[in-house]
Amino acid sequence: MPELPEVETIARDVRPHLVGATIRSIHVSRPDILRGIGRGAFERSLTGRRVTQVGRRAKHVVILLDDGRRVVIQPRMTGSLLVTDAARPPDRYVVIAAALSTGRRLDYRDVRRLGAVHLLSAAAWRRYTARIGPEPLEPAFTPDRLAAALAGGRLAVKKALMDQRRLAGVGNIYANEALWSAGIDPSRLSRTVTAAETRRLHRALRAILRRSIRRRGTTVRDYRTGTGEPGAFQSRLNVYGRASRPCRRCGRRIVLTHAIDARATYFCPGCQH
Ligand SMILES: [Zn+2]
Repeated sequence: MPELPEVETIARDVRPHLVGATIRSIHVSRPDILRGIGRGAFERSLTGRRVTQVGRRAKHVVILLDDGRRVVIQPRMTGSLLVTDAARPPDRYVVIAAALSTGRRLDYRDVRRLGAVHLLSAAAWRRYTARIGPEPLEPAFTPDRLAAALAGGRLAVKKALMDQRRLAGVGNIYANEALWSAGIDPSRLSRTVTAAETRRLHRALRAILRRSIRRRGTTVRDYRTGTGEPGAFQSRLNVYGRASRPCRRCGRRIVLTHAIDARATYFCPGCQH
């Protein structure tokens, strides 16, 4: 599932091809991917619009149009964006194809169609983004903001990190990695994390997200960059996917459990407390 670094990579890859380009025509072949809008209205709304910005919010690609509306794409498990030559026929997994004024085409592919695409007015976007927590790579995201995200409720620190209302963009892979890096047991209640541990976790989380963006994200299965290639950060993972292998910090065997949130949690019983 693409998390912050993967979606950031996709947005950066497609941005130079989209900003300033006009959507000449658009075809939705699988309308079940659309949320809150039908195929006809979506196609009519986008035809003739110029793209003014491409960004990311949490795990979503956000395409701002010249009429102030935004196309918000959640790739979830198997979705990907790719800018290709317009002459190349779309493959069978392309669910939305947009012909651009530049002669290129933007394809949204989604093999299992678990992703979602919204078209939001400025007001609807404000409501949408207000429900999502702070962006961990923004300068305003201080250790105090992380402490606020971890406060309250009786939930495991790993679940708190992955809760998009508390913190944007962090999913299972980077929650596992950040907690290993900070030496924190993922099953601990988030409110028991001390101020010193919060500072460590803050530093670890930001460093890992930045390093992964530099390596164009982590491909475990389906994720592809905006140029159609796998990412390269999977070779740098310290704990995710390393069950029974020796910890790179203390040598104990990494443990895999599904007890915290039914997701795969990897941790080292030797150096995560
Ligand atoms: Zn260890």
